[in-house]
Amino acid sequence: MLFPETIIRTNYSETLHKVVKVNSGCTCARLSDELGYTNTGMHENSPEHIHIWCRDMEDNMKSYFNGFIIEGSRIISIWQPKDEIIIVSYPPKPIQLTLF
Ligand SMILES: [Zn+2]
Repeated sequence: MLFPETIIRTNYSETLHKVVKVNSGCTCARLSDELGYTNTGMHENSPEHIHIWCRDMEDNMKSYFNGFIIEGSRIISIWQPKDEIIIVSYPPKPIQLTLF
């Protein structure tokens, strides 16, 4: 699962990103199919996937990861199956204060 505040990176970069928002249930087309650069049959729509909005840890710049699916414990791209998102750390759980 992916929650806001989760720290992620990709398998092709060392840059750390903090998840801001996850949008699930999208079926948008593969852009390179739409533009005619590739032909994988996803020019009109793609299998259901998620989009992830992030902030980069180092410079606070916005970053986006589009077209991913969660498969077991892996988060992989439906458009570039070699691209994978790796969870670095989950947000800390809220501290429970005991009142007595
Ligand atoms: Zn989409």
